[in-house]
Amino acid sequence: MKRVLLSVVLISISCIAAEKPILCVGKYHSEAEAVAQLKRMSATHSNLTQWKARAAAVRQQILTGANLNPLPKRTPLNSIIKNKRIYKGYTVESATFEARPGYFVYGNLYRPLGRTGKRSGILCPHGHARGPEGGRLRSDQQNRCATLARMGAVVFSYDMIGFGDSEHLGWSHKHPQALTLQTWSSIRAVDFMETLSDVDENKIGITGCSGGGTQAFLLTAVDDRVAVSVPVVMVSAHFFGGCHCESGMPIHKTSKLETNNAEIAALAAPRPLLLISVGGDWTKNTPVVEYPYIRRVYNFFGKESVAENAHFPNQRHGYQYLKRQAMYPFMVKHLGLDRSGVYDKSTELYDESKNTIEKVTIMRTFNTLDEMPEHALKPGAMVPFR
Ligand SMILES: [Zn+2]
Repeated sequence: MKRVLLSVVLISISCIAAEKPILCVGKYHSEAEAVAQLKRMSATHSNLTQWKARAAAVRQQILTGANLNPLPKRTPLNSIIKNKRIYKGYTVESATFEARPGYFVYGNLYRPLGRTGKRSGILCPHGHARGPEGGRLRSDQQNRCATLARMGAVVFSYDMIGFGDSEHLGWSHKHPQALTLQTWSSIRAVDFMETLSDVDENKIGITGCSGGGTQAFLLTAVDDRVAVSVPVVMVSAHFFGGCHCESGMPIHKTSKLETNNAEIAALAAPRPLLLISVGGDWTKNTPVVEYPYIRRVYNFFGKESVAENAHFPNQRHGYQYLKRQAMYPFMVKHLGLDRSGVYDKSTELYDESKNTIEKVTIMRTFNTLDEMPEHALKPGAMVPFR
């Protein structure tokens, strides 16, 4: 009897050891290894039916790795939208909702002025750039949101955990659930957009840069309500993201399946996808490595024309002016935005000079914890998901 018990214990221990999470962090691959991996992954599918099976398995692995399988119950958003500011052609409000009971997502809602009917909705997550005006408070992020709103979109720009209002109220980005919380917050941000009477739920897009690019392609991969996706300077076959909110959970590799961020981005197919890449970071090979892999997937759907790559060989990491200029026409084309009054035909540029860059203090939803509802979780608390 004892021997039986011992072998049960040993089997259990060996199972636990076999299930130890495999994390692909940062430059987990060399560039050459990434090319070889893409080749191995390509060999798993050669037609649409096979790709769909592969895509379902990758999607399942992302959700399981992120502790979101099965998806948690949708709980009341209890959204709060307040402090409307009126600018030239658009308004900005402070907005928040509860992704889980007591766990708040903070952001700003940009809306066009003087337009009627349902509008496209665009989510704008942000990257890891710090500073007193980091995250969603950055002027490049404000410019992106304001310009899209002036062209008719309803735009929600929202904090990562431990940035912006979340940081101000005491949360740290080092929170062990960061990847789970941010992916779930993006899913709930789509829910939030769908509650707005001026948003067309069939026209929801997302764009983000760097860590915000990771959030963009992860959401697009797991939520088919996203109609258009523009991840900026992040989709790379050899770089998996260096932060635990991007690669700190086993979403890329298990004993059963290996994937990388190029393939995760391909899960957008057949929906319009624009990869914006630069020579100055880990997206430098996009035109010859990641983009061809992704185009092949779109080809299975006969939709190659909606997968694009705008590459800037002399640019560095970030969502600077030129890269925003590449994103705007893609959103105009695929979300039906109206560029009149914003696009200048003579310069072929989208005008950002009429945007108002707000001060941090006016952008907040809550200034102190005392202003928050009583049931708000304490900063740093673990967030219950079941
Ligand atoms: Zn992070």
